[in-house]
Amino acid sequence: MHQKKHGDRSKAGVLTVLLLAVMACHVHAARFAHEYRLGRIRIFYDTTGTNAVDAADANRNGVPDQVEDIAKQTWAAHSLFVETLGFPDPFQTERFRSASFLDIHLLHKSILRFNGVAYDELQRYKRPGDSPGTLSLCFNVATSVKAPANLTPAHEFFHLIQYSISYFKNAWYTEGTARWSEKALGTGGLGKTGPKAEPPALFKMSYDASEKFWNPLAAADDPVGTIPEHLVSAGLKQLTYSTGANVLQDFKLTGWQLMRDVLLELNKADKVAFRELGYDRWSEQNQNSEKNNPYILRAVMDVCAARRKQPPSARD
Ligand SMILES: [Zn+2]
Repeated sequence: MHQKKHGDRSKAGVLTVLLLAVMACHVHAARFAHEYRLGRIRIFYDTTGTNAVDAADANRNGVPDQVEDIAKQTWAAHSLFVETLGFPDPFQTERFRSASFLDIHLLHKSILRFNGVAYDELQRYKRPGDSPGTLSLCFNVATSVKAPANLTPAHEFFHLIQYSISYFKNAWYTEGTARWSEKALGTGGLGKTGPKAEPPALFKMSYDASEKFWNPLAAADDPVGTIPEHLVSAGLKQLTYSTGANVLQDFKLTGWQLMRDVLLELNKADKVAFRELGYDRWSEQNQNSEKNNPYILRAVMDVCAARRKQPPSARD
């Protein structure tokens, strides 16, 4: 079964999306012996065999700490981006609102091939106990990922935000902004900022577009770079990993208003592109087409210009 998905290496370069699609493997619900639930987040995992997670269970609640930590980071990403900062909620947008759950499967790196893989279509797993027609958002995480030291779950959740609001999947946008987003729960407010790249080089970038495009834009838009502490829920502030470390590591994040506004603008821009480029559907090819690039860039520039005209007090 062909599933559209996208994989991530934490520090890797360009992804081979087409190759991934060819080797896409169908994850069967029945393959996993255990389920852990946190709100609408469900984690499916094994404690034996190839996909076994780390068995450490410091709080002795019967759930491996690795599983709980991945669930906590994902919950925190939803809480921070959606509830605190006003990013689109993948459970509420037109494209994904029929989803009941976010299902995360933990697989050995040799099987998953990436640290994380996010799906841009809702999945129907037909799990025992689910009502007929139950749909799930989905991303998968490698069992090598320990959430206290690795922001892959939050990165993959950010992809779900992107997919929920726009069909554009050009990597300089999806990976560039997802890499930027890792600073939300991580330490510091902004990653490296290098000289700004311009098209056409920009359009060939992936993760590196964060340093060479998105981070400079974020810095210019938001010299302060803080998460408004009074908007952060007590639950998020108090949430800790099994190690005792805070899941939200600080209140720094540069350019979140800009990124949020860009995503909302891309929701309109993809409709314009669809019409003007004569697409008949958002095929995988159309989602990744280089013809999308001018529409994405124009949306970004329009948002930057509109934000520059606003007085700082109106820019929340
Ligand atoms: Zn990614």
